[in-house]
Amino acid sequence: MSNIQEDYCLKNHNTFGIDASAKYFASFSSESELIALLRNKICKTEPLFILGGGSNILLTQDFEGIVLANDIKGIDIAYEDEQSVSITVGAGEVWHDFVLWSINQNLSGIENLALIPGLIGASPMQNIGAYGTEVKDVITKVSYIEIETGTKKEITNKECKFGYRNSIFKEELKGKVVITQVVYQLSKTPLNNIKYGAITEELKLLKKEASPSSIAQAVINIRSSKLPDPKVLGNSGSFFKNPIIETSEFEKLKKEFPEMVGYTISESKTKIAAGWLIDNAGLKGYRKADAGVHKNQALVLVNYGNASGTDIINLAKEVQQRVKDKYGINLDPEVNIL
Ligand SMILES: Cc1cc2nc3c(=O)[nH]c(=O)nc-3n(C[C@H](O)[C@H](O)[C@H](O)COP(=O)(O)OP(=O)(O)OC[C@H]3O[C@@H](n4cnc5c(N)ncnc54)[C@H](O)[C@@H]3O)c2cc1C
Repeated sequence: MSNIQEDYCLKNHNTFGIDASAKYFASFSSESELIALLRNKICKTEPLFILGGGSNILLTQDFEGIVLANDIKGIDIAYEDEQSVSITVGAGEVWHDFVLWSINQNLSGIENLALIPGLIGASPMQNIGAYGTEVKDVITKVSYIEIETGTKKEITNKECKFGYRNSIFKEELKGKVVITQVVYQLSKTPLNNIKYGAITEELKLLKKEASPSSIAQAVINIRSSKLPDPKVLGNSGSFFKNPIIETSEFEKLKKEFPEMVGYTISESKTKIAAGWLIDNAGLKGYRKADAGVHKNQALVLVNYGNASGTDIINLAKEVQQRVKDKYGINLDPEVNIL
């Protein structure tokens, strides 16, 4: 097929800025284009990887297969009633653009997720979340094409099996489907979720009452001041998930480390701030050649310029080991490692 390119550089397709290439690369802007690509011999025989904005991947080597980039566009109102609006969004739309669109439409539900990089299609993958909101609370349906058969399927929110930074797409359906559309149900009434303290403080500084647009602005301000901009310093956001441990274990650790930060998530489980663990293990700002732990956000690993994927993964392993040695806690990567 003519639009399949060979030996394609992926440096501008991953926010870590890793200089790796793909044996083959193609993009698709409709389901029919995707289905035609999937029928191609290269897709049938070579390893296949679906790419969104590349903001949650780490390329540790050249990809010896075909990368398919999602460019399916479209934001369409599917249904509307007194309280809410259902919107079908193409998987290739930029997530933050959709957040801004929703605010312009006076809709509420995703304002706390402003400025998360990446595309719509990846939002259900790891159930993106930030500042007290998870996307699972507004997704009603996800449509996908099965890679093996080219068949279109649609599953409900429940069938997505959403969890903390997890879903069916990272488990049973991993590598088997291409998400093409996501349906979100947004509220006509402002939800004004300001349970995250930093938002309230930022609203005070902005001298604004809580509303979807002021909350989005507060989140944008907080994120811009705290997180490194991948355009300036390569990174993929939080490299590790916040570990979830038994509350009894947390209580024991608290005796040794009274400052340890944990959030009760159920009767017996506590979620620990991975950033605190890394920071308190003395690793904030730690650097090995061009791979480093960010100087302000210990949960973010960064590429100072010419780090390879191997440099980053070696640093990640060192961080995991140091945290394990100090607290006996395993850190699992949030980033998809290739
Ligand atoms: C500075 C920064 C801050 C971030 N902050 C947050 C945050 O606050 N919260 C949060 O949850 N995440 C955060 N992230 C991580 C990332 O932005 C999200 O996970 C985002 O949803 C990834 O989208 P993407 O399009 O870039 O996915 P990619 O990195 O391209 O892909 C990620 C995974 O999803 C798969 N995938 C992508 N699209 C599809 C599709 N259409 N069908 C099937 N599989 C697909 C890929 O194969 C890959 O396994 C941050 C990242 C950065 C760089």
